[in-house]
Amino acid sequence: MDIRGKRIYETLKKMNFIRLSTTDGEKKGADIISEEIKQTGLEPVYEYFKVPCYEIVKASLEVLEPKRMSFNVKGYGYSGNSAKDGIIADFKYVETADEIDLIDAKGKIVLVSSLGYETYERLVKAGVAGFITPSGDYFDDPKKTDLDERMLRKGHIQNGQIPGVCIRMKDAVNLMKSEPKKIQLVLEQKEDEGDSKNIITEVKGTKYPDEVIVYTAHYDSVVFSKGMYDNAAGSAILLELLRYFVKNPPLRTVRFIWCGSEERGLFGSKNYVKENADKLDNIKLCINVDLAGPVIGRDTAIVLAEEKLCHMIEYMYKEIGHPMSLRHDIYSSDSIPFADKGIPAVNFVRYGAPGAVSCHTRNDVIDPISAKSLEYTASFVAQFSDRIVNAYMFPVAREIPEELVKKIDKYLLKKQLKTD
Ligand SMILES: [Zn+2]
Repeated sequence: MDIRGKRIYETLKKMNFIRLSTTDGEKKGADIISEEIKQTGLEPVYEYFKVPCYEIVKASLEVLEPKRMSFNVKGYGYSGNSAKDGIIADFKYVETADEIDLIDAKGKIVLVSSLGYETYERLVKAGVAGFITPSGDYFDDPKKTDLDERMLRKGHIQNGQIPGVCIRMKDAVNLMKSEPKKIQLVLEQKEDEGDSKNIITEVKGTKYPDEVIVYTAHYDSVVFSKGMYDNAAGSAILLELLRYFVKNPPLRTVRFIWCGSEERGLFGSKNYVKENADKLDNIKLCINVDLAGPVIGRDTAIVLAEEKLCHMIEYMYKEIGHPMSLRHDIYSSDSIPFADKGIPAVNFVRYGAPGAVSCHTRNDVIDPISAKSLEYTASFVAQFSDRIVNAYMFPVAREIPEELVKKIDKYLLKKQLKTD
């Protein structure tokens, strides 16, 4: 099969800049993908959508008593605003966020080590006035790392907004050591909307044009990150698969969707299934590629379909001699909105070994990635695709096992959020 790592790597080099949702970087990323689509002789189709945005105008944290100290912080997006002069309140460290821990938290500004939906809900119920979460590693060098920019998601704020900030772990430890009594938290932010888009193209099936296999990969990255591993690599692999199918016309239609704004909450794929509700019945399978390229890593297939597909992939990697891991599970990426509509999915992911590559930081750079590793993953996806797309009879049942449906519902918080 003509799958070439060098070509994939060349695309990666072109996308070597920050592609944050709704920014010019994301637009530039879309332009590069469009250009490469055109080079195959096909036309890209754009699907535009709006993404909620926020801008932090002011965020500060100061210990007032017993000794004045101020800390560098970042405001949490969508956590609302403090009063103009900030919130002045007692400080409390919330260790477990259990009832016993929150019994006297009302009206206080709390430091909490992590902020899942459940923890946040407990903070809201306890009536805390503000929150602080630590970011990164105690030993981070501030010159070489970034203080996280975080935001609350719909799942957090369904029961209320509490203004919050993020602080470096070392500062959080020093804050605790100072045994603060009164502290002041200031947060001012504006909420707005920005533009993003999916880029779509397809190669019509020669025998079963109405049976569609959808390929997805997100091309946006997070703040500070060039997102080479996550997920310029997957985007570039999709382009190589497109080139393959242009040269080798498939029996079934292959549709490629480069999704925008995945990192902000799967906005591109959610928008696709919403805007194309009438076309979903034809989609037989979603193949999503997210994370690829690390030299030291492990190819992994995460199957969000009937269990038989796990066995098929296992037999196949043994047959062709391609060691990899396999999970029958959901995966936090663009395959979820498709699976939520009943479309079986498989995610191909090449996880970097611990320390081999960095994700969601300024260190997600091209250096630990090689053309050979990209080719390794891409060649498996291509061989799998060749069998599935050109199958005599499409083998994957249109069903998602009950326990995975439950996981999807929980992930999308469908039960609690009526708006999704
Ligand atoms: Zn990703």
